[in-house]
Amino acid sequence: MSSGEMQYAPPFLNPALSPIRVLLSYANRPGTVSFAGGHPDVSLFNVDALREASEIVSSRLAGCLQYGETGGQPAMREAAANLSAGRGVKADPSSEVIITGGSQQALSLVAQVMLTVGDKVIVENPCFPSTDQALRHTGAQLIPVTSGASGIELEELEEAIRQHRPKMMCVVASFSNPSGSTLSAEKRKKLLGLALKYKVLLVEDDPYSDLRYAGEPVPPIAAFADEEERNWIVYLSSLSKTVAPALRIGWMVAPAELRRRCLVAKQADDLSTSPWTQEIAAEYLRAGAFHSHLPSLIKTYGHRCETMCSMITELSGGRLTFTKPEGGMFVWARLTGGRKAQDLLQHAIDQEVVFVPGNAFYPDPSKQDPSTLRMSFASVNSDLIIEGVKRLVKAIDILDAQ
Ligand code: PMP
Repeated sequence: MSSGEMQYAPPFLNPALSPIRVLLSYANRPGTVSFAGGHPDVSLFNVDALREASEIVSSRLAGCLQYGETGGQPAMREAAANLSAGRGVKADPSSEVIITGGSQQALSLVAQVMLTVGDKVIVENPCFPSTDQALRHTGAQLIPVTSGASGIELEELEEAIRQHRPKMMCVVASFSNPSGSTLSAEKRKKLLGLALKYKVLLVEDDPYSDLRYAGEPVPPIAAFADEEERNWIVYLSSLSKTVAPALRIGWMVAPAELRRRCLVAKQADDLSTSPWTQEIAAEYLRAGAFHSHLPSLIKTYGHRCETMCSMITELSGGRLTFTKPEGGMFVWARLTGGRKAQDLLQHAIDQEVVFVPGNAFYPDPSKQDPSTLRMSFASVNSDLIIEGVKRLVKAIDILDAQ
């Protein structure tokens, strides 16, 4: 049988390769400065504390090698509930929390449980491509709503809800990927109000909120909801950005009925997240390593963010504009004067610096802003950030000379 006869499911008939993955082949070239990846810096992982946690768990290894509970190891559920509660999102570890394979799996489970062909779901425009994928794979239609420097536009959102009657909406309220934007407390409350008014499930994806470098902390949207209102919110978070993505540990805090259905979806997906890595992560958290390490992450990433922003302002001559993010890992920049990020990319590759053109993040090609680009400052040290921005500005000079 030729592959042309294979009857793939509609979302996989012509799946595009992630443009970010394609770029990584350039990003990994020796000598290239990469602002393209969205990864934390390997050199900032707390390897000693993870080794210690891992040794403690090794001493009772036999107990970690069996299949685990689908909802997660009790110690890790407790730890995730504590982390959530520390941000103002109270959660009962036994009836509301599921430990997942990263927060990505949590989103995918919620999507499977809620959405099917013909359903509508609201996403931020621009949004994280794997959020787009997880939702799209259910056959649901994505309704993009503009997310600007201060997060999702609420008027446009209400209009879209009225027009499309979506079942669900997904937002990153703190330091979004890619836009770096953060919703004010005021907007969070209003967004919650819209979810309740129109009975739309609000999925709050919150992998970055611990990484705040400036401004006043704002609690997650879920923290503004009372017990009854929490029935309309699923809160997702992750250890990927603040401990290590290789653990593949994220979690959801969900209303009990929704959680029960997500457990069934997870049984079909992977039966359980590895008990072994859950125990290591729970031990790391129990020992206090998470909170003792966080300030040094904030200091280093905050410094890198500052360096990237000040170098762009200083060197680009107004040809690259941006709103400085208060946290997270990304500067979402805009080329002025009609310049296009895709046109700049080849010159940047020639100058040995890479970024992700904004078109990778727009769910609807007709609603793209071709001038945008995402620059991550997370995994490049400050000296290389300075060098990278210099190279980028040179690439803009070359683009302008054409
Ligand atoms: N949501 C957003 C907004 C992200 O940026 C990422 C990671 N880049 C994820 C979810 C997935 O994270 P995890 O490793 O926890 O699956």
